[in-house]
Amino acid sequence: MIRVRFAPSPTGYLHVGGARTALFDWLFAKKNGGKFILRIEDTDTERSTKESEHSIVNDLKWCGLTWDEGPDVGGEYGPYRQSERVEKGIYQPYVDKLVSIQRAYYAIYDKEDMKKIVKKTFSSQEATLYKEKGHSVTVNFMVEEGKTIFHDLAKGKMEFDNSTFDDIVIVKSNGYPTYNFAVVVDDHLMKITHVVRGEDHLTNTPKQIMIYKALGWKLPVFMHIPLILGPDKSPLSKRHGGTSVSYFRNYGITSKAFVNYLALLGWGRKEEIFDPFKEIKEFELEKISKKPSIFDYSKLEWINGQHLRKMPLDEVMEEFKKWALINAKESLSWLEDEEYAQKVFEICRQKVNTLKVLYEFSYPFFCEEPPFEEKAREILKNECAPKCLGIAKENLSKLDEWSIENIEDKIREIALREDISKKKFFQVLRVALLGKTVTPGLFESIYVLGKARTIQRLSIVMKRI
Ligand code: GLU
Repeated sequence: MIRVRFAPSPTGYLHVGGARTALFDWLFAKKNGGKFILRIEDTDTERSTKESEHSIVNDLKWCGLTWDEGPDVGGEYGPYRQSERVEKGIYQPYVDKLVSIQRAYYAIYDKEDMKKIVKKTFSSQEATLYKEKGHSVTVNFMVEEGKTIFHDLAKGKMEFDNSTFDDIVIVKSNGYPTYNFAVVVDDHLMKITHVVRGEDHLTNTPKQIMIYKALGWKLPVFMHIPLILGPDKSPLSKRHGGTSVSYFRNYGITSKAFVNYLALLGWGRKEEIFDPFKEIKEFELEKISKKPSIFDYSKLEWINGQHLRKMPLDEVMEEFKKWALINAKESLSWLEDEEYAQKVFEICRQKVNTLKVLYEFSYPFFCEEPPFEEKAREILKNECAPKCLGIAKENLSKLDEWSIENIEDKIREIALREDISKKKFFQVLRVALLGKTVTPGLFESIYVLGKARTIQRLSIVMKRI
């Protein structure tokens, strides 16, 4: 049984790199009928926060990366948390074991110089006495001479000279286990078969392997996925732009497009637009690119646009509502007229790449007096504006059959007849009706607005100017 885990430390948001690791772990588990586990590594009590944990958990759920086991919380699986496992005393027996076989010792530190070890002992009584006298005490794993060699599924044979490592702190002076120790105990107890994680952990692996060996445990398969880089080939960071899953969500990327793009960062498929969850069978750990992937913000936007056009309209509306409730900070009462909303979204989604821009495009369709952009105001100051609006209003109100074709014919005919530049005429109408210079196609927009709204809007603007 394949068992993999995603083990974030809740010391910040979920980075796209972490989300991609989680996705690949998840796909690998599903492909093999295995289990995907979420373990929150919160033993760094100073840096871990509940807030980060919640946002990581939320973001994983948003990506559709749900986990297959964990403590029961109200009928759902919660994540495992190392802090809770500390409380349960899960790590202590293995600390004791390492000390008893003399592979780990209590390190007693100088009271002033916290870096200076004044004594090493295998006796817990002695360590306790020192603690009572106010000394800091850690438990350190002894690194033995020699080499640590392992096979990495992405990197091939890895060889580390142990002399490059100091003894490894496994229990901090506050009694909490360190990452390198807790991760080994948990991966062993949780029967993890494959540790698939980011390349940034590569130098931790020999340390962990030494601990596995000292405890007489079987090693999992290790795979370190190359990092995601920014366009300048340095690891993707805030310098390049947003890097958190929540940033992209707020930016108006749909989860489908996001997961699609994550998969492109290393999966190695030719096809660009696809749903990774439907292609699980095709996924192969061994085929993940051995080279780092470059994160391309505009490509992600483009992919999102493709999804927005391809998805059933109802789904677009659902995604939009979820986004708008959080980001547009308004009640969505303006979407009440479902039929109208559907028409509006159908023409707007053709032109936009994000939910945010979809909001900017669609919103003006729903307000009686759309907000006017600065540029739009300028255009309405044009001398010919009142005339344009006047004739358009008069002619459109007389139009019998309200179809895109008739609207277009009529407007073109007026421009010709009145000898108004088409470009100017269209611009004036566009900004008068929607307050913006960039909108869905003018004739479709007028059609969707409908006769009554169009005439009403034209009248209001005419009065205003
Ligand atoms: N907790 C570690 C981190 O968030 C990851 C541990 C691992 O995957 O082994 O970087």
